[in-house]
Amino acid sequence: MMLGLQLARGGVQVLVLEKHTDFLRDFRGDTVHPSTLQIIDDLGLTTRFNALPLQRESTLAIQFADGMLAFGDFSGLRPFPYIALVPQWDFLDLLADEARRCANFELHMLTEATGLIHDGNDAAGRVVGVRARTSSGATLTIHADLVVAADGRDSVLRKASGLPSRDLGAPMDVLWFRLPREPGDPGYTHGVAGRGQFIAMIQRGDYWQAGLVVAKGRAEALAAAPIAEFRALLARTDPILAKRVGSLEWSDVHKLTVRVERLLRWHRPGLLLIGDAAHAMSPIGGVGINLAVQDAVATANLLGPALRGDAPIEDVQLAAVQQRREWPTRVIQFIQTQMQRRLIAPALEARGGPPNAPAILRALSRLHVFRAIPTRVFGLGFRRERAQFGVRSE
Ligand SMILES: Cc1cc2nc3c(=O)[nH]c(=O)nc-3n(C[C@H](O)[C@H](O)[C@H](O)COP(=O)(O)OP(=O)(O)OC[C@H]3O[C@@H](n4cnc5c(N)ncnc54)[C@H](O)[C@@H]3O)c2cc1C
Repeated sequence: MMLGLQLARGGVQVLVLEKHTDFLRDFRGDTVHPSTLQIIDDLGLTTRFNALPLQRESTLAIQFADGMLAFGDFSGLRPFPYIALVPQWDFLDLLADEARRCANFELHMLTEATGLIHDGNDAAGRVVGVRARTSSGATLTIHADLVVAADGRDSVLRKASGLPSRDLGAPMDVLWFRLPREPGDPGYTHGVAGRGQFIAMIQRGDYWQAGLVVAKGRAEALAAAPIAEFRALLARTDPILAKRVGSLEWSDVHKLTVRVERLLRWHRPGLLLIGDAAHAMSPIGGVGINLAVQDAVATANLLGPALRGDAPIEDVQLAAVQQRREWPTRVIQFIQTQMQRRLIAPALEARGGPPNAPAILRALSRLHVFRAIPTRVFGLGFRRERAQFGVRSE
């Protein structure tokens, strides 16, 4: 949607396909980092974005048995000293609404891309469009100068492209659910450390979006047991949850299968893959949306001017997008997989009651410079993009 908006504003004829009827899917990436806030500002959308139901968080903390430990501090970042937590559907609706102001933009909802069309019907030939299915079952043949697959972590178009990927592994899965917020609860997003599990608590106004992080395979075992055991596990991990898990049912719990993988090649003639379709990220640091947005901005910056012209987009131009975006993706995935191996996997294998914070971590967390590291790494990322194509001031 971000790429569609920028290209449309820059004068390129754009068609976006979305298989669902709307963007209303709960438990998605809601963590809009300062890097993305800057892009929103570049596009002249800050006032409209700030009108969305969002929470601003300047501090990230983990609750241990011996108290809260602050490990992330955004307050030193400028001009956005916070993360914005905003429902992804509201953000997407804003982008779609803005793009629809351009006569050269079309968004077809309930239209699912099912495969690629190749030049001369030769599977090795240039990609010249997609096949799609509408809600009525009709099959569409859509020709395009360039197909950008931004169809997420289970990308149909990635599969159709035959491009190989590398699986970097993940030791955990996440079970997402909502819990009511009550007076006296912490006022900010935080994590709760347990032995064998971890709960991420994202502050959403009158409720918590909670994610239980467990070792791979355990989610299935939990789901096979009565919900009462799950409720008891949550209450053991964080006693303040005991009174509010009573109405939680398995139908309220959504599993995120965590995968960390990356395509070796993000393109073939006529086709480019970006976002989760090119690289599924670990949830660590909440970087998924932000990297997907940065891919879109880099694509618009690098290809927008050429797409406005008549000449076909060459493979070398698509390679330039991968060249620009692969390095920051690799660095973040490296940090995520190291954290998964060294911190998360051992914590998920441990047993017993809630742990105290390691003394070294508690000492370091008193240093502002230490608290600023995660916010810079994940909040700003590496090789930050600034929107140059389709830019408008407010
Ligand atoms: C449960 C869960 C929790 C997450 N939590 C976070 C978080 O806290 N922070 C964070 O940054 N990231 C998080 N992520 C990851 C984040 O949602 C993604 O990294 C980000 O949305 C990637 O954007 P994308 O545009 O590449 O793909 P997506 O957001 O997956 O968008 C793909 C879109 O394409 C549509 N689509 C798929 N297939 C087709 C098709 N064949 N035809 C037409 N349309 C199609 C989908 O309906 C969807 O709208 C989470 C992901 C999940 C699943």
